[in-house]
Amino acid sequence: PAKPIFAGDLPAGLQRISNIVAVSSCKGGVGKSTVAVNLAYTLAGMGARVGVFDADVYGPSLPTMVSPENRLLEMNPEKRTIIPTDYLGVKLVSFGFAGQGRAIMRGPMVSGVIDQLLTTSEWGELDYLVIDMPPGTGDIQLTLCQVVPLTAAVIVTTPQKLAFIDVAKGVRMFSKLKVPCVAVVENMSHFDADGKRYYPFGRGSGSQVVQQFGIPHLFDLPIRPTLSASGDSGTPEVVADPQGEVAQTFQNLGVCV
Ligand code: ADP
Repeated sequence: PAKPIFAGDLPAGLQRISNIVAVSSCKGGVGKSTVAVNLAYTLAGMGARVGVFDADVYGPSLPTMVSPENRLLEMNPEKRTIIPTDYLGVKLVSFGFAGQGRAIMRGPMVSGVIDQLLTTSEWGELDYLVIDMPPGTGDIQLTLCQVVPLTAAVIVTTPQKLAFIDVAKGVRMFSKLKVPCVAVVENMSHFDADGKRYYPFGRGSGSQVVQQFGIPHLFDLPIRPTLSASGDSGTPEVVADPQGEVAQTFQNLGVCV
């Protein structure tokens, strides 16, 4: 059985956070980090105090997707705490800002790193902490969910049938832990070209999940070169184009988390 990440009470560092939202997917590469980061900056744009915790130790995306001036987490040596870095007022913690190379670690070590980064960071008072979960539903994800009091989960998927099966696993994990899945984001749902709409991965798996599991909201996110480019350039699309179509979608998602 998985070892709990935190033994005992909720760590002091997390006690002043009102809502902890997990953004989750069962596979890599479906756009989970893109959704987590854009959701965080949307909530910040709506006036909330926000932090992002990148819990993906094996493949941290946050350092690519945002470009804080200070790319290294600082330590407070007296309090033995981590001071999050910051980009446009959103507090950021990722293993990718820890100043070490890509890690080769076994599960228990990963849990230890997640524990330290999450619980010893000085989050301060936050309205939302958005957690970019590691992909999958294994031990690391389960322990993280069991010990952090998650307010809500957002599941990211792509339209393929295989992705649907994986998502169902994720939904079951959260429902077992009594964490409400408030929304499914069906990413790369379509693209428009030459006045036509194309569905390269087929249609309907998002709505199937929503129906089957009674999830209240479904959002489509089209394939957009600008979304990919903004992720690579370190400025989330909702920041680069606050009036755009993507920003609108994320505002609706922000309202439901
Ligand atoms: P995950 O966190 O699930 O591994 P990412 O958010 O890192 O996925 O996305 C994987 C890649 O796909 C990134 O390069 C990202 O910019 C790109 N991407 C994600 N969603 C879209 C989209 N809707 N349109 C275009 N590119 C996207």
